[in-house]
Amino acid sequence: MIAIENLLTDDVLWAYSGKVGHCCCGCAGKYSYNSKNRTLGMERGYHITDADVNDTEVKRTLQLMQECSAAVWKIAHDQWTLKIGDSLYMLMSL
Ligand SMILES: [Zn+2]
Repeated sequence: MIAIENLLTDDVLWAYSGKVGHCCCGCAGKYSYNSKNRTLGMERGYHITDADVNDTEVKRTLQLMQECSAAVWKIAHDQWTLKIGDSLYMLMSL
C-alpha cells in the first residue's frame, strides 16, 4: 500500500478540486488529468479532452495532500481525499 507521501506526480492519473457536500461529477469542481497518463486514462474509460489535462493542477494537488497528509483519507487502494474548510480534493493514482 503506497502512502500519499511516497506518491510521485507521474503516479497520478487525475486530481479533483471541488466543494464539500456538492456533486463530484465535475459540475461543481474540476478534474485535472496528468498528461503522462492520458492514454492510460482513456483506456480506463475516462473521456479526457485537452482542456481536462493540467499537469500544474495535478502537481499542486499532490503537493497539498503531501503537506496535509495527516488529514488525508485513503478511500481506496489508489484513491485519496482531503477536506480543507469547504474545499474537497481527491486524487487517483495508477
Ligand atoms: Zn454533478
